[in-house]
Amino acid sequence: MNQTYTIKFIHRINEDGSIDSICRDCFVTIATGRSRLELAPQEQQHTCEPMTIQRYEGYKKLAVR
Ligand SMILES: [Zn+2]
Repeated sequence: MNQTYTIKFIHRINEDGSIDSICRDCFVTIATGRSRLELAPQEQQHTCEPMTIQRYEGYKKLAVR
């Protein structure tokens, strides 16, 4: 149950050791923190902007063509 949010987000470790949390659906960096625990509350609060997702869907259509 407490693992569900990690599936939706990619964790990228920066050169300075901080961790970016990137949403897999809208590709927005939703949080940067020192540890995964620090990112968790913001990941749980995140909801994708429908406009952002639509924009990516549009890019996908262009790429297919
Ligand atoms: Zn999102």
